[in-house]
Amino acid sequence: MLGNATGVLKVNVDQSILAKDVTGAGAFSGVVHRPKSVAEVQALVLEARRRKIALHPTSTGLNWGYGHMPQAGSDIELMDLSGLDRILNADQISVSNPVAVIEPGVTQGQLSDFLLRHHPGLFFNVTGSARNSSIVGNALDRGVGYLGPRRDDLFGMELVTGAGTVLSTGFRRLGDASPLAHCHPFGLGPMLDGLFFQGNFGVVTSACFKLLPRPAKQVAVSLALLNERDLPRFIDLLAGLKREKVMGSVTHIGNRARTRSSLMYGIVQYLETQGGLSGGELTREADRVLALVAPDQWTSLGGIAGTAKQVKAAMDEVRSRMGEVARVMFIDDFKLDLGYAVLNRFRFIPWAKANAAAISAIRPLHGLAAGIPTDAAIDNLLWRFGRSDLPAERLADSNCGMLFISPALPMDGAFAARLVARMTEIAAGFAHDLYVTVNIETDNSMVAVTNLLFDRADAAAVERAHRCAGALHAEVKAQGLEVYRARVDMMPEVVSADSDYWKVIRQLKAVFDPDNIISPGRYNFQN
Ligand SMILES: Cc1cc2nc3c(=O)[nH]c(=O)nc-3n(C[C@H](O)[C@H](O)[C@H](O)COP(=O)(O)OP(=O)(O)OC[C@H]3O[C@@H](n4cnc5c(N)ncnc54)[C@H](O)[C@@H]3O)c2cc1C
Repeated sequence: MLGNATGVLKVNVDQSILAKDVTGAGAFSGVVHRPKSVAEVQALVLEARRRKIALHPTSTGLNWGYGHMPQAGSDIELMDLSGLDRILNADQISVSNPVAVIEPGVTQGQLSDFLLRHHPGLFFNVTGSARNSSIVGNALDRGVGYLGPRRDDLFGMELVTGAGTVLSTGFRRLGDASPLAHCHPFGLGPMLDGLFFQGNFGVVTSACFKLLPRPAKQVAVSLALLNERDLPRFIDLLAGLKREKVMGSVTHIGNRARTRSSLMYGIVQYLETQGGLSGGELTREADRVLALVAPDQWTSLGGIAGTAKQVKAAMDEVRSRMGEVARVMFIDDFKLDLGYAVLNRFRFIPWAKANAAAISAIRPLHGLAAGIPTDAAIDNLLWRFGRSDLPAERLADSNCGMLFISPALPMDGAFAARLVARMTEIAAGFAHDLYVTVNIETDNSMVAVTNLLFDRADAAAVERAHRCAGALHAEVKAQGLEVYRARVDMMPEVVSADSDYWKVIRQLKAVFDPDNIISPGRYNFQN
């Protein structure tokens, strides 16, 4: 840490960053601070107050589709926390103490590798985003993992408020040496934790993160809806299985556009390496394989876990309830290995080749249930935008354009099916495919994760995608709903000056961040 002649505090500052944003919001160019300790974070905040400069904290800065950088032209400096990347209690983690105290720069790949090496009996809730994406930043934006909302996994935070005060929430306030610091999530008295999720009151410098015992058996449940007309019933039946904890993880119900885009790159890779295809022949064959293995309009993927007996009973229950409306398939590692070995050997038969390619594409996605993060979803996008040469974390260096418009929904199949149909129709009016996954996330609500894809190199396409996203959000609001998580550019539509709720949030800002230093306008009024 050093101060320069003008008194501006510099903590490993990189002046030259030019960060691109996949939402097409334009490139952010400005000062980036890379603190390495809580003391440095605190010093930066205090200095920002003195200089009246705003700071935007990111953990790993990969919030693709939601706005992962400050907006271009905004007078703000970036605080990149990826250098704070320690698992602070690494020596104390065990099966009987399944909590990791992690800094914001700890990635899901890093924690997964650490657990596989040192505690194979433990795993955690991973997301479908990149291996190098964070756990803390994702949870703070209320991201969702394969097993549920990450918000439920994070507690006991240490943070620096916008006023520059170091504060610990829950029982971490008793000090990290307290036997309660890392285990009891609620603390005593009002819980402050909630303010720092989708909030702009401070910079989180570490947090407790729940780990899970690895179940004896895990099976993926793949369902293909037989008749599109039955979508409402399909959702309601799956909702029942979630509520009754027969299928405890998040069930993802994807439309054909989503399923095909998720499988495409894995299929192409297989056909390239095992079939020796390339160029136009490769693309045509991949399309043929997709048509064969993913013909259905709606498919779902969920999971069952437990002891062998529990899993068997749950599989019987799923088969008996879902068999009437869907093709039911249970997949585990053994079946994947065996199926792949046999089908790959007979790949000279088109059907066998198609299914071997599908298994090869499904395998990394299947690993998500077991807590193994993968770059597969990002690699898919990089391939689609012609930049398979790039590592996943450099998605923004491709021309991939992406906007999420993801409404939270009541657990009501008919309502969800109607809304998704209407949103798909609106997107089609802008010549867009809508990529949809209805996620059964909590016992009583769902989220439709929907996104648009476009070419960021094409200014007209960027403009059309943003108009389309605006129309979709307007429809969501017209139905009395709201998105579960907002893009940076949506904040003016989300935060309303007439709302008592947002007025109180602004008053709280004055308590925690009197000079409006931290991410002004993020889930709050700009001023
Ligand atoms: C193909 C694809 C698949 C995806 N799959 C998923 C998925 O399954 N689930 C999901 O949730 N998302 C998903 N995403 C979206 C996104 O990539 C992830 O949510 C990712 O984890 C967010 O980036 P990050 O972890 O680097 O968080 P960051 O970008 O670091 O943080 C997100 C925001 O939280 C705030 N923040 C971060 N750190 C701090 C801090 N320490 N203190 C205060 N505020 C902070 C900032 O406002 C920041 O902008 C996906 C995206 C793509 C393109």
